[in-house]
Amino acid sequence: MNIDLEKLKQGQRRALAKAITLVESKLDQDRESAQNMLNTLLPHTGKSIRIGISGVPGVGKSTFIEAFGRYLISLNKKVAVLAVDPSSPLRGGSILGDKTRMEKLSREPKAFIRPSPSEGALGGVAQKTRETLLLCEAAGYDVILVETVGVGQSEYEVASMVDFFLVLMLPNAGDDLQGIKRGIMELADALVINKSDGENAHFAEQTKSHYQNAFQLLKHDSFWKPQILTCSALKNTGIVEVWDMIYSYEQESKSEEHKAGTQAQNAFNSKRAQQNSQWLSSLIREMLELKLKHDAQVQTQLPQLKQAVLENRVTPYSAAQTIIELL
Ligand code: GDP
Repeated sequence: MNIDLEKLKQGQRRALAKAITLVESKLDQDRESAQNMLNTLLPHTGKSIRIGISGVPGVGKSTFIEAFGRYLISLNKKVAVLAVDPSSPLRGGSILGDKTRMEKLSREPKAFIRPSPSEGALGGVAQKTRETLLLCEAAGYDVILVETVGVGQSEYEVASMVDFFLVLMLPNAGDDLQGIKRGIMELADALVINKSDGENAHFAEQTKSHYQNAFQLLKHDSFWKPQILTCSALKNTGIVEVWDMIYSYEQESKSEEHKAGTQAQNAFNSKRAQQNSQWLSSLIREMLELKLKHDAQVQTQLPQLKQAVLENRVTPYSAAQTIIELL
């Protein structure tokens, strides 16, 4: 595949789309060219702000992204929308990042919308999205929105690739916390209660104070105190405030000193560095597993070793050691 990197860096969508197709390819030889391309582009990445957006189906993610994205464009920013969809369309899952869900935004020349890749090979869907995110940065996108739904691991994966993780919620009359997972509360840099309009506006305020109480019980490990806002994506209210909040997070985290190893960094870069090192570790683990799976010697010896362990002839430890030494 012939990709003009100069055109990509100038922000030409065709070049960008082709580059993403290469990154998403499952062919071994494409994998290699994709990595070469990414390594070349790496010095041109990292300048955007990366925002994760999650929430249950129907909470208003696409309506919100449409309103939020168009507001950012009015501020003269280029906006890319990516998605991590844990359930592929083939398995009856929702289609995130679908252009028809964000019709007006998709017509904006300064917007780039890319649906979730189908099941990826190594590193899964999230791996492809991380790499696509880097390509969008090289193409000059100022804000990258990564959409996901609150299913399985996808929220954790998205939280580990963005600077700011935002969870959309519904106004709720009752005082139950919509079964929000505690883990998600700990991940969220902000909860935004959407559909705060009409009769719901009152409930939205109630919900807000419930979450405020819940948040106070949680320990957030950074300088940032998670915020709770209300908005109406449909009526376009509260959208400016969401951006102002994220902007102030960016400013504060860039001025906050953090020690990462021996190097003093600001909190913003230190979070990204940490995310990259976690990404590396999980890839190494996966590559090792793959190597084990494809190693002929391992595959012939493993059943015998398993049997030996079952019959108490060998300890699991030395069986594992034998396997590792085969590599
Ligand atoms: P998603 O599944 O999370 O992407 O949700 P959608 O954006 O598709 O929205 C689901 C439904 O909620 C649609 O009918 C939207 O028109 C509606 N909706 C989204 N945002 C708002 C809002 O702020 N207020 C109201 N009243 N309805 C909204």
